[in-house]
Amino acid sequence: MEQTLRLRLDDVERRLADACRRAGRARDDVTLVGVTKAVSSELARELHRLGVIDLGENRPQELWRKTSALASPVRWHLIGHLQRNKIERTLPLVHLIHSVDSMRLLEALDDEAVKQDRTVAVLLEINASRETQKHGFEPEELAEVVARLGTLRNIHVQGLMTMAALHSDSEQSRPTFALLRELRDRLGARVHEPHALAHLSMGMSNDFEVAIEEGASLVRLGSVLFEGIAEGAP
Ligand SMILES: *Cc1c(COP(=O)(O)O)cnc(C)c1O
Repeated sequence: MEQTLRLRLDDVERRLADACRRAGRARDDVTLVGVTKAVSSELARELHRLGVIDLGENRPQELWRKTSALASPVRWHLIGHLQRNKIERTLPLVHLIHSVDSMRLLEALDDEAVKQDRTVAVLLEINASRETQKHGFEPEELAEVVARLGTLRNIHVQGLMTMAALHSDSEQSRPTFALLRELRDRLGARVHEPHALAHLSMGMSNDFEVAIEEGASLVRLGSVLFEGIAEGAP
């Protein structure tokens, strides 16, 4: 299992480096977030041991579980929907929340961050593929959200996140990723310290190379690392 994971990671690293080179970007500009939602804590720990320090979970409860199982210094990313009743317990555990999808959630996060006397880094999730069932701000809403960031006290908005629609051809994700970058370029200048639209979290196993070509600084990869790796008995 460890050997297979190492080969997978080597292959992903090669593809990341190639995509960065094609895009004229430094490999350091792109952070690999290993998405561990479908695997055990043991396999997540193995990936961390192989040098991936950024790990992502899409469900708060699973993030709580894995943070206690992996004592080592992981940078945890929450990449899925956060219900307000789970904010209190989640805040102390996360390095970055990618999935802030409403003003109400932003304000609730800020209240709790003040209460806990910590600052919390977040990304705004944008429904850039315009699928009706998706979480996220509509692209048209973003200007108004940006105008309201000045009211936040302990939340630092660091960028934007999106998910492309599922396609078999990764080229079909390109317009979604390009739209996220355009939004960032258009609205970034209106964002003031401590906020910044520096990061673009976009690209998953099926389309991460296209995302890097379009400016992704965080790619969230699960199945390309883990799919088909048999989890042996402990
Ligand atoms: C599961 C998930 C990923 C990883 O998807 P893969 O296709 O397995 O790489 C990335 N982002 C989010 C928000 C996810 O829920």
